[in-house]
Amino acid sequence: KIDVHGIHKNFGTKPVLRGIDLRVAQGEVVAVIGPSGSGKSTLLRCLNLLETPDSGTIRIGDASVDAARIGRREAARLRSKTAMVFQSYNLFRNRTVLQNVSDSITLRRRASRTEAERTGRELLERVGIVDEVVRQYPATLSGGQAQRVSIARALAVEPEAVLFDEPTSALDPELVGEVLSVIRDLADQDTTMVIVTHEMGFAAEVADRVVFMDEGRVVEEGPARDLIGNPRHARTRQFLGQLG
Ligand code: ATP
Ligand code: MG
Repeated sequence: KIDVHGIHKNFGTKPVLRGIDLRVAQGEVVAVIGPSGSGKSTLLRCLNLLETPDSGTIRIGDASVDAARIGRREAARLRSKTAMVFQSYNLFRNRTVLQNVSDSITLRRRASRTEAERTGRELLERVGIVDEVVRQYPATLSGGQAQRVSIARALAVEPEAVLFDEPTSALDPELVGEVLSVIRDLADQDTTMVIVTHEMGFAAEVADRVVFMDEGRVVEEGPARDLIGNPRHARTRQFLGQLG
């Protein structure tokens, strides 16, 4: 469960987030959409303190921080509640597929290597990575495989929520489907997720709720199909209209 209140963030004198409230219930999937530069990635990065908000409060599960006074310990606790999946995978190139996942498990809890590898294989199987592929190095993978491995790695830390920043934007069109299908499975298993995406059809189908951002504010939010199929706000209509 995520509860974000009054997040402000400036870069220099430029306001990028101007008072964001966001709630995500346990097991809920929220898609964040909006034009380039509207602050979607910055919002996601504020959730795990990759960016420090100037003000506002963030609560994820039983961890919470107030931007006004963020202690190291609270920050670490909050960070441990989410895992992020980036557009560009960010796998460790000198670790095998399995090691990429099992390293996260041993870091997270004192598991033996055997145990971490067993759990790692299970997670990889959930994203459709099996057999000899688990022994390969990231450089040998297709983009779709690499992104699925990074999803397995995100799950390895048993996060309260998984945060996706345009998980399919770097993929060749023919590889988008396999990644969306994995995310769809996670949604069916009630994984709490916040997904920044340009895939409107996917958002309408998989997200419970869609949040439309523009210029650092939430302009409109609502049930996914309603918002995408029948936006109320002129700015949302204009944005969705442009996408064709
Ligand atoms: P996109 O759809 O292109 O990914 P976005 O909605 O994710 O856009 P952000 O990346 O959050 O937008 O950026 C919002 C604004 O903040 C942009 O104007 C961007 O140039 C600016 N910005 C983001 N990160 C930084 C930074 N580290 N330093 C300065 N400005 C930044
Ligand atoms: Mg972005």
